Amino acid sequence: MTGSEKTRETIVEPTIFELGRPGRCGFRLPELDVPALDPAEVLGAGNVRQAGPDIPDLSEPEAVRHFTRLAELNHHVDRGFYPLGSCTMKYNPKVNEDAAALPGFTRLHPEAEERCCQGSLSLMYHLSRHLCEISGMDAVTLEPPAGASGELTGMLIVRAYHTARGNPRSKVIVPDSAHGTNPASLTLAGYDAVEIVSDDEGRIDTEELRKVVDEETAAIMITNPNTLGVFETHIEEIIEIVHGVGGLVYMDGANLNALLGIVRPGDIGFDVMHFNLHKTFSAPHGGGGPGSGPVGVKAALAPYLPYPVISRDDARPEGRKYHFDYDRPESIGKVHGVYGNFLVAVKAYAYILSLGPAGLRRVAENALINANYLQAALREHYDLPHGDYCQHEFVLSASRQKEHGVKALDIAKRLLDFGVHAPTIYFPLIVKEALMIEPTETESRESLDHFAEVMKEIARESESDPAVVQGAPTATPVSRLDEARAAKDLDVTWKRRNA
Ligand SMILES: *Cc1c(COP(=O)(O)O)cnc(C)c1O
Repeated sequence: MTGSEKTRETIVEPTIFELGRPGRCGFRLPELDVPALDPAEVLGAGNVRQAGPDIPDLSEPEAVRHFTRLAELNHHVDRGFYPLGSCTMKYNPKVNEDAAALPGFTRLHPEAEERCCQGSLSLMYHLSRHLCEISGMDAVTLEPPAGASGELTGMLIVRAYHTARGNPRSKVIVPDSAHGTNPASLTLAGYDAVEIVSDDEGRIDTEELRKVVDEETAAIMITNPNTLGVFETHIEEIIEIVHGVGGLVYMDGANLNALLGIVRPGDIGFDVMHFNLHKTFSAPHGGGGPGSGPVGVKAALAPYLPYPVISRDDARPEGRKYHFDYDRPESIGKVHGVYGNFLVAVKAYAYILSLGPAGLRRVAENALINANYLQAALREHYDLPHGDYCQHEFVLSASRQKEHGVKALDIAKRLLDFGVHAPTIYFPLIVKEALMIEPTETESRESLDHFAEVMKEIARESESDPAVVQGAPTATPVSRLDEARAAKDLDVTWKRRNA
C-alpha cells in the first residue's frame, strides 16, 4: 500500500459556463393555459429586465454529469476517512436528510402563522428541551446559525446580565488553547480578551487564573475537553475562582462528542454555553451545508435570550399550544433573520430521537475509544506533547519529522495520496507543527487501522525519502494550490464557449 501507486486523475472539467450550447435547456414549462399578463403593466416597466439572465444553456444530463464529476474529484465524509480535529466530521445518517426533506418542513413559509406550524414549533420546543436535558442547562435558543454566532450570542447575554447589575465589566478570560472564534466573539461583544497560558499538561493554570481575575472579569470562556483533547480536571476550582468575583463561566460546547450522556456542563457549574448541531448532532457542514449554534443558559440568564422564545402553554386551545413569545423586555433582541437554520434543527432532532439516551452515551464512549486507540497506535511514531489519555481528539506534533525537513503541512498533503482527508494542522497554536486528529465514533476499526498504517508509512518516508512527502500530493487532481490566490485575485468573468 503506497500512495505513489495511484496516478493523478487530471482535471478535464471545464467550468459550467463553458459547457452547453446557446438555446439548450434542462426543463421546459408547458404552454400557458391561463391568460398572459404584461409584466411591465403588473410590475412597472422599470422593474422588468430587458434581456434574459446570462446563465449557461445546458441539458439536464449535462448539468448532472458536470456536478457529479466535480463531486468525484472532491474528498468528503461519504467517500472516506475525514479526521479533521475540532470540526467533528462524523458520518451523517441519511435518515436525518429524509426527515429534513419532508414537504411539511421544506415548504413551510418562515412567516407562517402559529396555528399553521404547530408541528414545527413543537419540534423546536422539544429539541430545545432535549438540549437542556443533555447539557444540564435550563433554557435554549435555536436562533444562532453557527458556533461562532452562538458564542457572540452568549457573550451578549453575559453583557446584558452584568449591565442589569449596574456594570457590563470590561474583560473576558480565554486560555491560549482556545478556538480563534472565542477571542473574536468576545471582542465583537465589546470586551477585551485576557489570554492565560496553559500549564505543561495543556490545562488551565489556576495560579495564572487567580492573577488575572478581578471585579472587571465579566466571564471566562472554556472549552472542555479543550482543543488539545485534554479534560480540564480543575474545572470546579476554576469555576469557583470566576464565580467568586461575580463573573460568569462560558462553555464552548462546539465539540460535545466527548461528553454526551456522561457529563452535563450545567451540573459542573457552567452558566452559558453553545452547541454545534452541525458537529455533534450530525448535520453535514463545511461545504456540505449550513450550521446551527444553539445557546443554553441557566435560569438566571434566561430573560436575556434572543426573542422570540418558543413557548408551550397547555392552557391555550389545541392548535395554538406552541407559540412565539416576543414579550421579552430584557432580551438581547434577534441574532438571526427568522428563527435560525430550521432544517439543521430537524436533522439534529431526528438524530437525537433515533439514538435515544443510551445511544447518545455510546456515541461519546466510542468517540473516546476510537481517539485513544489511534493515539496509542501513533504515539511512538510522532511526538505527543500533551496528555496521557485523550478525550474525543488528540494533537500530535510533527517536530520529529521537521528535523528531516518535513512539516505538518507536508504530512497533511501526503495523506491525500492515500485517500485520507488531512487532519486539522497548526491548531491549537500552542503545539508546534500540530496535527489535530479526531476520528469520531462513526469509523470502523479497519478504517482506524488503515489510517494508522498510512501515518506510520509517512513517518518512515519522512526519514528515508523526505522529498516524496515534501512533493505530495501526486495522486490528487491538482497538487498544491496557492491557497490565498483565489481570494486575492478573484476572477469571476467567463466566456461562453462558441459564443
Ligand atoms: C467549530 C468550532 C467553533 C465555531 O463553530 P462554527 O460553527 O464554525 O462557527 C467554536 N469553537 C470550537 C472549539 C470549534 O471546534
